[in-house]
Amino acid sequence: MNATRLPVLMYHRVGPPHARESSGKSVATERFSAQLRLLASAGYRGISAADALDWLLGHRTMPEGSVLVTFDDGYADLVDCAAPTLAALKWPAAVFLVTGKLGGTSDWSTPAHQLLDPAAIQALGRSGFSFHAHSHTHPDLSTLPAHALQHELQVCRAALDELELDSRLLAYPYGQHSPAVVEAARQAGYSAAFTTRSGFNQQGDDPFLLRRLDVFGTDSPAALLHKVALGTNDGSRRARARYLTQRLAVRLGHRQP
Ligand SMILES: [Zn+2]
Repeated sequence: MNATRLPVLMYHRVGPPHARESSGKSVATERFSAQLRLLASAGYRGISAADALDWLLGHRTMPEGSVLVTFDDGYADLVDCAAPTLAALKWPAAVFLVTGKLGGTSDWSTPAHQLLDPAAIQALGRSGFSFHAHSHTHPDLSTLPAHALQHELQVCRAALDELELDSRLLAYPYGQHSPAVVEAARQAGYSAAFTTRSGFNQQGDDPFLLRRLDVFGTDSPAALLHKVALGTNDGSRRARARYLTQRLAVRLGHRQP
């Protein structure tokens, strides 16, 4: 049966925690492994970004329980800290690259971390990862004048094409977008783009306003399972209880869905 909704997980860095880093942007290696293994044991299955895009555009069906795992920024730690878990589960994953910084560091964040270089990208590409656009230098696209906006999106696409990577998908840096950014992305030839708004994705949704669930370093595996079931960034017990209460109220006819 065709799935009615697609949850997309948004990770940033997976690896050893850094003292000066917020738990929002970094998930420890063991926690990442435990999170995905619990999802798998609950019946979820990772799908590729290409299959997700085809489903979103109505070109194919997709089994219920499909989930897309994404990583923003392209940290070098993915090789040792995320890839082994994904390989063990045979789950593909999508990485959004900052094409002007490959092999460099994430100098837009504190602390800065090492980023994947082209050789590591090619190696991961052979083990189920796909690579997509996250701009050329990681600016807030919604603040750029028109020519700079076009430049960021076009140069990034061209760099991905040069490396024979999938340049159809974009993730807006910081999740920041505006009608002008969406239009520029369309003009630059992208097919779809991810925001940081939470929720599920459904067939027929605007492909340039796709939603993702933010995974925090503080999310226990059970909390992540709740997030994926509820389509919310709040994986707490209270959110779960509220959701079940609402469902019950709807079923008893007390409230409209
Ligand atoms: Zn980013």
